[in-house]
Amino acid sequence: MTENCLFCKIISGEIPSNRIYEDDAVYAFLDIHPASEGHTLVAPRKHFSRFVEMDAEDVARLFEAARKVTAAVEKAFSAEGSNIGVNNGEVAGQEVPHVHVHVIPRKKGDGGRGIKSIVWTEPDRTNLEEVAEKIRKAL
Ligand code: AMP
Ligand code: ZN
Repeated sequence: MTENCLFCKIISGEIPSNRIYEDDAVYAFLDIHPASEGHTLVAPRKHFSRFVEMDAEDVARLFEAARKVTAAVEKAFSAEGSNIGVNNGEVAGQEVPHVHVHVIPRKKGDGGRGIKSIVWTEPDRTNLEEVAEKIRKAL
């Protein structure tokens, strides 16, 4: 539990939430400002500010819970699909610095778009192999 973290307080029960799912590693609850009906946040119980701070086991537990929650949310709202994503860092739109996966159910004609609509900076596409090499080197 990290002091002054909103989601740590939600997970510990200090701040109320609409619980969807919980196990020993994960807590999932409704987003208070949903992008669509059923929008759920899936968070690790342990406090991590950024996704890359997590280890393999924590990530596996988080995404297995996100998969379960996605199936339930889609079933409950007869959704035809969903967006599943993490805002990783303030520059990427992360407002609450405790890792969480957004599960946003989607229906045909809801006016929403895909994950690439988040940003379009028109990067150079002629040097994809150089870009790939740069990332591979950083692994
Ligand atoms: P992010 O921008 O990825 O950090 O997402 C934070 C999300 O937390 C936003 O979608 C907010 O609507 C949601 N949120 C903020 N406060 C609460 C709260 N008390 N209970 C549930 N969701 C919240
Ligand atoms: Zn926290």
